Amino acid sequence: MARKVLVLPGDYIGPEIMEEAVKVLRAVDRRFALGIELEHGLLGGAAIDACGVPLPDETLAQAREADAILLGAVGGPKWDGVERHLRPERGLLAIRSELQLFGNLRPAILYPQLADASSLKPELVAGLDLLIVRELTGGIYFGEPRGIRTLENGEREGYNTYKYSESEIRRIGHLAFSLARKRDRRVCSVDKSNVLEATVLWREVMEEVARDYPDVELSHIYVDNAAMQLVMRPKQFDVMVTGNMFGDILSDAAAMLTGSIGMLPSASLDKDGRGMYEPCHGSAPDIAGQGKANPLATILSVAMMLRYTLGSAEAADTIEQAVSDVLDQGLRTPDIHSEGTRLVGTAEMGDAVLAAVSE
Ligand code: NAD
Repeated sequence: MARKVLVLPGDYIGPEIMEEAVKVLRAVDRRFALGIELEHGLLGGAAIDACGVPLPDETLAQAREADAILLGAVGGPKWDGVERHLRPERGLLAIRSELQLFGNLRPAILYPQLADASSLKPELVAGLDLLIVRELTGGIYFGEPRGIRTLENGEREGYNTYKYSESEIRRIGHLAFSLARKRDRRVCSVDKSNVLEATVLWREVMEEVARDYPDVELSHIYVDNAAMQLVMRPKQFDVMVTGNMFGDILSDAAAMLTGSIGMLPSASLDKDGRGMYEPCHGSAPDIAGQGKANPLATILSVAMMLRYTLGSAEAADTIEQAVSDVLDQGLRTPDIHSEGTRLVGTAEMGDAVLAAVSE
């Protein structure tokens, strides 16, 4: 059965890194006879230039048809002047919410070859393999009522609402537990149940969900302690599951444990496992057009797509192994370059991965 992948290169370095990722995807498609059909579309600044809006109807229709979406990155100074509701990043938020992509997977993996790139001591992070599962469509970022109001005494007050329904918590809980089953079978749920009632319920529902997974160990941690443990002993965690705001902050902290933003893939999944896959970084306008961008985060996003949506763990493993192999060969783009390694550009890095997956 053909599987449809919608490719949205986006802006600035987006098309450069996407070219390399697509090469690799086509190669594993051939090698493993996956029957993947690729279609290209417009999102972000590229869509504004072509159609006047960041998420054209046609792109949304293509996205609904696709099994998976591979995104480069959107935005940049060229569109800084456009009205807020037409900004490139709006296209990204809109596609996530239109497709109900509630489960955000942010792995923080540190290849031993890059242990020196981390701001932490190599022995604390070498071999780190952590998965943060963040709820992406609820919580305080979406809760109503919200706004800025003027009180009777004339003072202004900003307010937001932190709420999660049982079904929202259960949905992200099941996703985290089922992912843990494919890993080390440990879920750590992050909350602030000593202060926030919404997260008292979060903790209760996580306990209920855990009963369906007797083979997976559940632990709980307060978010402040989680932040501390992440920088103190990050390798203790397997899967961390948390709400939108805590996940936003913790996943960026975890990302930085790995040293380079150019290495980190991500996935956003819907309830049926369809999803959008993208590097964690932005469109890096400062290095666009210079062949300096690291394509590995996007290539590793292809591996996640194959594993989580397209059901081809073998092809995913092959790509991840190929990335490890090229790092072993000493190839480094400028963002991960250090003494004694070989500096390469975007295309050369992509070609090296391509050669390694084609072997
Ligand atoms: P950025 O991630 O684009 O860049 C931050 C720094 O990391 C820059 O120095 C950049 O050169 C470097 N960098 C990023 N990706 C790299 C790669 N693959 N290889 C090597 N170096 C890399 O963040 P920013 O500068 O804050 O944002 C630039 C634009 O991207 C903004 O318009 C922002 O809104 C947008 N953005 C988009 C996304 C997305 O599409 N998902 C995410 C974040 C930011």
